[in-house]
Amino acid sequence: MIPYGRQHIDDDDIAAVVQVMKGDWLTQGPHIAEFEDSIRGLTGARHAVAFSSGTAALHGAMHAARIGPGNLVATSPLSFAASANAALYVGADVTFVDIDPSTLNLDPTAVPDHADALVAVHYAGLPVDLGALQRRPRVVIEDAAHALGAHTPSGPVGNCSDSDMCCFSFHPVKAVTTGEGGMVTTNSEKFAERLVAFRHHGIRRTPDVAPWSYDIAELGYNYRLTDIQAALGTSQLTKLDRFVERRNEIAARYREMLHDLTAVTLPPAAPDGTRHAYHLFPLRVPGRAEVHAHLVERGVATQVHYIPTYRLTAYAERGFTAAGHPATEDAYEHLLSIPMYPDLTTGEQSLVVEAIREALR
Ligand SMILES: *Cc1c(COP(=O)(O)O)cnc(C)c1O
Repeated sequence: MIPYGRQHIDDDDIAAVVQVMKGDWLTQGPHIAEFEDSIRGLTGARHAVAFSSGTAALHGAMHAARIGPGNLVATSPLSFAASANAALYVGADVTFVDIDPSTLNLDPTAVPDHADALVAVHYAGLPVDLGALQRRPRVVIEDAAHALGAHTPSGPVGNCSDSDMCCFSFHPVKAVTTGEGGMVTTNSEKFAERLVAFRHHGIRRTPDVAPWSYDIAELGYNYRLTDIQAALGTSQLTKLDRFVERRNEIAARYREMLHDLTAVTLPPAAPDGTRHAYHLFPLRVPGRAEVHAHLVERGVATQVHYIPTYRLTAYAERGFTAAGHPATEDAYEHLLSIPMYPDLTTGEQSLVVEAIREALR
């Protein structure tokens, strides 16, 4: 079965992990800082704080920005549930902003004026145009789980030029992997300090009291990444540029091979000056269920990104509905993500396209 996404692991990635296993520190050692330095170098952000997952990173960002009960967090309903869940974890309210069908990102001109925070999801790896916000909420957090390696005219995603914090995920289907893992970048010293405490129980050292002394004023969690994972991440990051180049090549070839299929809508391309990260290649197809089934028969796995978050039971029970989200509903009915990952061969890609053509005949 050709999967819709998968990791690429080389021998040097494995060697990096083995080396940590033979050393003194499996966790809370020097590889975390090294991995954070790599992300800082790559994005240009002043601070980077590693987390045990992208979801933990989003939770940390909410906490660092002091979002909580009484605050309203706007986000895209066409995302993984974690984007909205993070707001609920801290007791805030959520409002979903309908997507702009020309980008599949939330429409930045439709973020309500009374939102305290925005979680801007760079869907499929195409950055949200944060410059188009009518009014900037108190806190802007980027959910860049899809967008490591993407660039905007103001530089790499993660430099936080138009946001307070930017969150990445290192799940195996994402641009680079640590198995599970996440990162928050920020230019704020204050946010970085709160993020570091939050991932380690809220502990702050108080060496003025005694050498062993510490205190917990605000509860945190154990959201630490291990050194084993961090070493894998540092090794993987050396290949990020190659991975994203390859994803862009695959996207260009899909566009060329599918452009005459009028029934299929290709995913939005990046505007000039923007580099797409192509985490996903989501088509819009008629008769999605039939296309999906035919592709499975031909050995091609596809996925739907995403069931709109307001449709999930935990959200429906909180009173969320499809009302007010016609563009998201319309996209959701037709979306199908086809295989997209660096190791997808040209032969496999041709097979995927042939199977789509058959399904639509
Ligand atoms: C993957 C993903 C996350 C969560 O990342 P994990 O590392 O799996 O916790 C959050 N938001 C989006 C949009 C994602 O795709």
